[in-house]
Amino acid sequence: MSIEQEFLKKEIIKYGNLLITKGLVTGTGGNISVRVSKDLMMVTPSGMAYDQLISEDLVMLDLEGNIVEGKRKPSIEVNMHRAILKARSDVNAVIHTHSVYATAIAVTRQDFPPVIDAMAIVFGGGVKTADYARVGTWELAENVVEALGNKPAALLANHGAVGVGKSLAGALDVCELLEASAKSYIYASMIGKPVVLAEELIKAEQEDMATRYGQKSGSQYGIK
Ligand SMILES: [Zn+2]
Repeated sequence: MSIEQEFLKKEIIKYGNLLITKGLVTGTGGNISVRVSKDLMMVTPSGMAYDQLISEDLVMLDLEGNIVEGKRKPSIEVNMHRAILKARSDVNAVIHTHSVYATAIAVTRQDFPPVIDAMAIVFGGGVKTADYARVGTWELAENVVEALGNKPAALLANHGAVGVGKSLAGALDVCELLEASAKSYIYASMIGKPVVLAEELIKAEQEDMATRYGQKSGSQYGIK
């Protein structure tokens, strides 16, 4: 195993623990994958607590689902991870969470409309909810790929959320922003009618922020 692969495994474990401490999953919920090379990926094992994981527990597979390295059974959502990595050459990291507010919207099976400026900038608008399919199925994987399109986030009907990025840091930022936005949207719905941002405004926000925000041009999230 290369030093680079060993580093990736440690990173995945670190981010798994962050999902717990940031409240984006509970117990053994959620899962994480990273692209190792064009056709190889690494994924968290099925049903193991993040704080118990060691490097050897991670599973390396090709994008067809054949295990290349590792003794553990891969995450039950491995199909979703590999379908996303296959469909999106711009994506190197996929994080699936069960964060409470994002999942609350997913339970309604409604799409999440663009109601927060940061959503316009980072997500390029609203977030779609993938049609329902059972946990771990190829049908769910396809539905999520369709809901994602070229965006960095999607909701999974009656299940949770997924965030993708060029890096694990980028994917985690997406998951956190999605959860914070969902919380604001749900609270706003309790005191009034949330105002959905107009399409022209979303385009203008994106163009504007690409040149004005941060220390260098472009989004800090890796994927806009
Ligand atoms: Zn799940």
